[in-house]
Amino acid sequence: MSTVSSHDIRNIHKEDCIQREFPLHELGLSQRPLGFQIVVRRSTLNVIKTHGQTSLHAEVGGMLVGSLLWDNQPFLFVEASIAGKHTDEQVASVTFTAKTWEHVWSIQERDYPNKKIVGWYHTHPGFGVFLSPMDMFICEYTFNAPYHVAYVYDPQSDDDGWFVWKNSTLIKLTPLIIEDEPQLQPVQNTSNLKNFVMQAAADKIVISSEDTQDKWTVILVIISTILLFACTGGIGYLVWENIKVKNENSQLESEIETLKKNEQKFSESIRMLHDWAYENSAIQHRRLEDLRRHQDMICQNMSFQSPISPIEPLQPPKPLSLILDLPSNSSEMSRSKQTKVNPKD
Ligand SMILES: [Zn+2]
Repeated sequence: MSTVSSHDIRNIHKEDCIQREFPLHELGLSQRPLGFQIVVRRSTLNVIKTHGQTSLHAEVGGMLVGSLLWDNQPFLFVEASIAGKHTDEQVASVTFTAKTWEHVWSIQERDYPNKKIVGWYHTHPGFGVFLSPMDMFICEYTFNAPYHVAYVYDPQSDDDGWFVWKNSTLIKLTPLIIEDEPQLQPVQNTSNLKNFVMQAAADKIVISSEDTQDKWTVILVIISTILLFACTGGIGYLVWENIKVKNENSQLESEIETLKKNEQKFSESIRMLHDWAYENSAIQHRRLEDLRRHQDMICQNMSFQSPISPIEPLQPPKPLSLILDLPSNSSEMSRSKQTKVNPKD
């Protein structure tokens, strides 16, 4: 009589699996170990770890994609992963939102139509490999099929662990890895990488010839850094120049504005001065005329010829019209002023 709970790898049935030969050759094994196994490609693991290393302080997560296979007994083949977008990433928890699932299902349908979501992964940056009560809750309510697995990765220490269902609880299980590409090197943190690059530059890249791969990596990193600095510098210079030109333009515009105002005031003053001068000349002219008439009258009354010869009639002053043409924009500043004297009279 079976007492195995539904949350248990021993509850995986043959009819739920796809018949396929166990990959002994790819794993470099001569004999399959006993029991349920997780088989994972190094390349898949590298992709997951690379995602984990993008965030050394907040948790990230995603889905594990693969197949449930059967060769006398079940084994889970983890063949790919889907990074969880739109997750609510906190320092110590990750939450898959409705949008995350929408994204996951669209990628699965497009790229892995014949595979299924076989579990989930998430990171514990700097706090080790285990399943928290919140993680257990996610497993219990979302990844609760007997074959569902959970993968936890600490990107700071490079520790990781796989968890499978047994007796309604999750226990650690060492996976079998197909070494299809070199293992990803852990990145401790970005400042270490920067120090390494700086040190390599200071040492003028004195690296042994045995380490050609590392040498090329360092050279590439240095070239990338130099290009990055050059691009940043170039963009910064252009932005600075742009700001400078804009400032100069606005300064010039305000100067033109002031000049226009001054010219208007000047033009107004000249007009007033001219009107005043014309008015005074007219008054003087009228007074002289009156004086001459008065003198003629006195001579006639006294019936003698005026000894003073008559005053020549005065010509009234010529009215002037002063026209100041103001420039409509800065380019006409050079030919700013024009004074016209009315040629009539
Ligand atoms: Zn966790």
